[in-house]
Amino acid sequence: MRRDDAAHDVPVDALPTRGIVDGPFEAPSWVRRERVDFHLSFHGSRQRRPQHARPTSRPARAQPSAARTGFPSPAPASPPIAPAAAEAVAASPFTTLGLSVPIVRAVLEEGYLVPSPVQSQVIPHGIAGRDLIACAQTGTGKTAAFVLPLLHRLSSTPRPDARSGASIRALILTPTRELASQIAERVSAYGRHLVVRHAVIYGGVSQHRQEIALRATPDLIIATPGRLLDLIAQKLVRLEAVTHFVLDEADRMLDMGFVRDVRRIVAMLPSARQTLFFSATMPPAVETLARTLLVNPVHVAIAPLVTTASTVDQSVVFVAKADKRALLEDVLQDAAIRRVLVFTRTKHGANRLSEQLDRAGIGAAAFHGNKTQGARERALEGFRQGATRVLVATDVAARGIDVDGISLVVNFDLPNVAESYVHRIGRTGRAGATGRAISFCDREERPLLSDIERLIRRRLPIADRATPRPSDG
Ligand code: AMP
Repeated sequence: MRRDDAAHDVPVDALPTRGIVDGPFEAPSWVRRERVDFHLSFHGSRQRRPQHARPTSRPARAQPSAARTGFPSPAPASPPIAPAAAEAVAASPFTTLGLSVPIVRAVLEEGYLVPSPVQSQVIPHGIAGRDLIACAQTGTGKTAAFVLPLLHRLSSTPRPDARSGASIRALILTPTRELASQIAERVSAYGRHLVVRHAVIYGGVSQHRQEIALRATPDLIIATPGRLLDLIAQKLVRLEAVTHFVLDEADRMLDMGFVRDVRRIVAMLPSARQTLFFSATMPPAVETLARTLLVNPVHVAIAPLVTTASTVDQSVVFVAKADKRALLEDVLQDAAIRRVLVFTRTKHGANRLSEQLDRAGIGAAAFHGNKTQGARERALEGFRQGATRVLVATDVAARGIDVDGISLVVNFDLPNVAESYVHRIGRTGRAGATGRAISFCDREERPLLSDIERLIRRRLPIADRATPRPSDG
């Protein structure tokens, strides 16, 4: 979520990309140019400070994050707003979408000037309480598309009597713990001027802190299915007051085998509720699930799968399996490539490659489901901060990697499932920034490459003419 301006300095010719036919596209107009500290102005005159003037890439917070604790911030819900900030809020296109002042204020502080297409299309229906199904990839601004109307509705309707024991009015269900904590972080950011309490619930960590957060009667919980069901079974979570339900990344939820868990959870929700359903792709199984969850939904389709990576320069290199590591080290010789995400097919492969890179003096860490939550968070933080240059990940774990400024994605192994290719390369070129994706294809992987090319309906340009496309078959 953090924009790292330094990473945007990477020269476009940073890779051996002879033969690439598609250049990077223009960044879409909704991408913010700078983060704005309007909250600094609440106590005085209006000040605007571009992000590069900051010592870190993290935005200043008006109040401490409630993401992990679920406790409401001690700061007042909505401190007085200076005239200049009020003017900016009134003039913002986010106000035109119908969002309330404290939410638009927070969005402006994030530096968002214009809503992204998915936000323009989803937010008014979200505010109106309609059910909705949206086909949108990560990187399109979809998180704000569901979080903003949710916060709007939660903050404009009274809380139920907490003594009833069922405080939770909204549930966001997401497939991975990383996504859960990143959504929670966004909820904290967009809700910083509201008193909407939230808690994050995911497995792989002790449930103690989550229990404490639940005792603080959150309005909203962001959860992965397994741990949520555990806590429900322990009677620590009750869903009977839920009026708003978001299913995020439904396709991945199904891929990860969570469909039964999702159905069990949905069966516990009141039928009088609003449901927002998000998926990057719409295979028939996802559509079937959607039909059972939604009532008369609005349909929104953003950036169809085949065009999602329009800001990513994609290429393929034909290389023998045994030569892949040397090729990767060669590519990484270019010090201008600062933050690199490498995909391997197996956890073991990720470990081995990251150790080998480390031994070759290239700072690397592995990121996969066999690592403890703590190890994953440390690896991610090192990567975010720039201490680790290369993160070697597997597909499932990578769903939750939301790190801006990834200048290069390397498919060290091609994915078995073509859709994963689109998810992988979507980790770079985020929010309209340009990025590169290079795929290493060995002889056995050629059928996988064909699957990918069929899906994205184009042939990948060859990165290195020295290794031309082998004749098919
Ligand atoms: P998402 O698709 O929700 O993962 O968002 C991708 C990135 O876009 C995140 O870093 C967001 O902070 C950023 N973003 C979301 N909405 C906007 C907007 N309207 N203007 C600029 N950046 C945005």
